Amino acid sequence: MNVVADRPRRLESYIAGAWMRGSKDGVTLCDAATGAPVALVDSSGIDFAAALAYGREKGGPALRRMSFHERAMMLKALAQALMERKEEFYALSTATGATRADSWIDIEGGIGTLFSYASKGRRELPNSHVLLDGDVEALSRDGTFSAQHILTPLQGIAVHINAFNFPCWGMLEKLAPTLLAGMPAIVKPASQTAYLAELVVRRIVDTGLLPEGALQLVCGSPGDLLDRVGDQDVVTFTGSATTGRKLKTHPAIVGNSVRFTMEADSLNAAVLGLDAAPGAEEFGLFVREVAREMTSKAGQKCTAIRRVIAPRAHCDALITALGERLAKVPLGDPADENVRMGPLASRDQREEVRARILDLTTDAEIVAGDPARPQLVSGDAEAGAFLNPVLLYCDSPDAARSVHDVEAFGPVSTVMPYDTAEEAVDLVRRGRGSLVTSVFTNDPDIARELVIGMAPFHGRVMIGNRLSAKSSTGHGSPLPGLVHGGPGRAGGGEELGGMRGVRHYMQRTAVQGAPGLVAAVTGRWMEGAPARSGGEHPFRKSLAELRVGDQIVTETRTVTLEDIEHFAEFTGDTFYAHMDEEAARANPFFDGRVAHGYLVVSLAAGLFVDPAPGPVLANYGVDGMRFLTPVYPGDTLQVRLTCKEISPRINSDYGEVRWDCRVTNQTGATVAQYDVLTMVAKTGSGEE
Ligand code: NDP
Repeated sequence: MNVVADRPRRLESYIAGAWMRGSKDGVTLCDAATGAPVALVDSSGIDFAAALAYGREKGGPALRRMSFHERAMMLKALAQALMERKEEFYALSTATGATRADSWIDIEGGIGTLFSYASKGRRELPNSHVLLDGDVEALSRDGTFSAQHILTPLQGIAVHINAFNFPCWGMLEKLAPTLLAGMPAIVKPASQTAYLAELVVRRIVDTGLLPEGALQLVCGSPGDLLDRVGDQDVVTFTGSATTGRKLKTHPAIVGNSVRFTMEADSLNAAVLGLDAAPGAEEFGLFVREVAREMTSKAGQKCTAIRRVIAPRAHCDALITALGERLAKVPLGDPADENVRMGPLASRDQREEVRARILDLTTDAEIVAGDPARPQLVSGDAEAGAFLNPVLLYCDSPDAARSVHDVEAFGPVSTVMPYDTAEEAVDLVRRGRGSLVTSVFTNDPDIARELVIGMAPFHGRVMIGNRLSAKSSTGHGSPLPGLVHGGPGRAGGGEELGGMRGVRHYMQRTAVQGAPGLVAAVTGRWMEGAPARSGGEHPFRKSLAELRVGDQIVTETRTVTLEDIEHFAEFTGDTFYAHMDEEAARANPFFDGRVAHGYLVVSLAAGLFVDPAPGPVLANYGVDGMRFLTPVYPGDTLQVRLTCKEISPRINSDYGEVRWDCRVTNQTGATVAQYDVLTMVAKTGSGEE
C-alpha cells in the first residue's frame, strides 16, 4: 500500500487483532505545509470494552509467558524491522511539518529507543520472569524469616495517550519499557498526526513479531475507554496540562487507583553562567543551543527552551547574537532540503501559538521575529502553518507572571536578566517544575550552586561547557537511559530512565517467609535457604546440571606473615597496615598487621576454584564485596560458595551464574562476603 499516494485516507484502528474504520467519515487532517488533506480520522463504533479485554486476556498472558530476555530480543527484532522501513516513515512525516532532521529525532530516535531497551534489557535484567528489587531483609535472629522485594508485571493494560508533536518517538519511547515489563498496550496517538503513528503500527503488526493482543491502536477519540480502566491498568498521558488534569481526575482513574503518568507543559529554561561573557566559548555554545531548541521541530518539543536566563550585563549581546542566528534559519517547505525549520503541525496550532505570544507580551517585548508575516524560502505562506522564530525580552522577570506561566508551543523563547546566581535559581524555579534546564558555565562553583538549587524542580539538568561541546547530546534530547519527566507543572511523571521506566509497569511486592520458600519464589538463593554440598564440584556442572543452591565448602588455609609480605612485594601494595606492626596497631580498626583484602579474595579463589578446563568459561567480576573482619597472620580461612542465580542467555551457548561467596575464619566469623559472577556453558564439560 502506498500511503502517500492514497491520501486522504481513512485511518484505521487496530483493535482485537483486526484493522477497522470508524463508522463515520470523521475529521480531515491536513498537511502542515500545504494544507492538503492527508487523512480522515474517526473512531466511532469501536468497542473499547472488547479492546481492553483482548489486551488483558490475550496480550498480557502471552507477554508474561516470555522472559525478560525474550521480550528484549523481540524489541530488537522489531527495531531492526522498522529501521528497514524508515524511508516510508520519513516520506509521510513531512506532512506533519517535520524537516528531515526533525523526522530523524522522531523516527530514528523512536527506533533507537527500542534498540536501547532491547540491549539494556538483556544486560541489566535476568532471563527470568521476576525482577528483584534491593537486598534481602533479614527479619529474624535465627535466620528463619526473611524478605525480598520483587517486581512482577501488572496484569492489566497500559493505555498510552500521546501528543501530536512526536507521533513515532512518543509512541515507541512508551512502548519499549511497557513491552519489556510484560504489559500489553493500547496506543492512542494525537489525532493531528495520527497517520504517521498508524503507519508505524501497521508495519509493526506486519512483522508478526509481537504476540496477539500486545499492541492495539485507537485513531480518533478514545470514547469510553478511560471509563473502563481498572486497578491493574496504567494510563500515561503526554499533552496539555488542561487535558492532563482532566484525565488525572477521571473517576475511573481516581476510583481504581490507576497508575497515571503525566507529562505536560514545561517552561524549560537555559541559564547562561555569570562567567560566560560574550567571547567565552560557553557564550557561543549557549547561543547555538538556544537557537537550535527554538527552531528544531519548530519549537514543538516538550523539552524546548522557553526561558533564556542570562546575566543582565550580557543580555544585549545575547539578543543580538540570537537574533542574527535565528534570522539565518531558512523557514519553509519541510520537503525542501535547504529548509531548516518547517511549519507548525497545523494552522490551528499556529493561531494558538500566536495567542500565547500575545499573552507573553503583557510582560515582555518582541525583540526578534515577526509572528504575523513568515519569511519563507519555499512553501506557501497562506496554506502552510509557518511562523517565524520569535524572541522576546522581559526586563523585570521577578515581577512578571506570564513568562513563567505561558507555554507558547512553538519557536518562541523569552530572554530574562539576572544579577546573582541565587536570582537565576529563583527565576528557574518560577516555572514550578520542568522537564529540563541547562546551565552553560565553565566554573565548577557556579555549576554546583545553580544545579543543586534547581535540581528539585527538574527531571533532568544538563551542564554545557567547552569540554562536552562535541559529545553533548544537547538540552532537548530525552535519552532512554535518563529520566524524562518533571515535577509539578511538568506533570509529575517519570518516563524512560533505563530500567526505572520498566518498573512503572510492574508491581513491587515485599515477599516474606522462610528463606527457602522466598528463594523458590525469586529464583535466587539466600542465606538460610536449603543448599546441597558434597558430590561433584559445582564448577564441573554445565547449566544443564547446575541448580540454584548447589554448594561447595572448601578445605582450609592458614594465612602466614610470609604470605602477606610476599603478596605486598609481588603486587607493590605495601600499605602500612600490612607491613608496619606499630603503625597498624595505632590504627583504630586493627590489633597489628593484617592481610590485604585482595589477598583474602585471592586465597579464597584458590580454595574454591576447580582448576581443570570445564563448563565455567570466565569470571567477569564480583558484586558487593565487603571485608568484614580483619585477617591476622595465623588465621585460618575457609570458603562456602553457593550457586545463587542462573541466567541462561538466549541465542548463546552459555549463561551467567552468580555465586554467593562467604569467607570465614577459624572462629566462624565472616571475614569477606561477595557475589562472584561467572559465565558458564549451557552443556558439556567444556573440555571439547
Ligand atoms: P491535548 O492535551 O489536547 O492532547 C493530547 C492527547 O490527549 C491527544 O492524544 C488527544 O487526542 C488526547 N485527548 C484530548 N482530550 C482527551 C480526552 N478528553 N480524553 C482522552 N484523551 C484526550 O494537547 P494537544 O496535542 O492538542 O496540544 C495542545 C498543547 O499541549 C500544545 O499547544 C502544548 O502547549 C501542549 N503540549 C505539550 C507537550 C509536552 O510534551 N509538554 C506535548 C504536546 C503538546 P486528540 O488529539 O484526538 O484530541
